[in-house]
Amino acid sequence: MSEIEEQVITGVTTLDSMFPMQLLHTMAVLIRCDDCGIGEMTPTGIMFMTHPPQYQHKCDKCGTERTFDERYPKVITRT
Ligand SMILES: [Zn+2]
Repeated sequence: MSEIEEQVITGVTTLDSMFPMQLLHTMAVLIRCDDCGIGEMTPTGIMFMTHPPQYQHKCDKCGTERTFDERYPKVITRT
């Protein structure tokens, strides 16, 4: 299976003035290519209408193609 990594892509941001001390960490979950171990799997824009839908990804270094049921990098927020 592909290795899933998390990278902090932004620092911290305040939610709103009601919760001035609430901090959100925005993370990008990306998938490292399991063939070359260097590249990152990026979406090709091709989606297969299966159940669930599969998103085609391609390594930006060696060109290996994989499909996943979510698009990566996936942006998530954490408090
Ligand atoms: Zn690769």
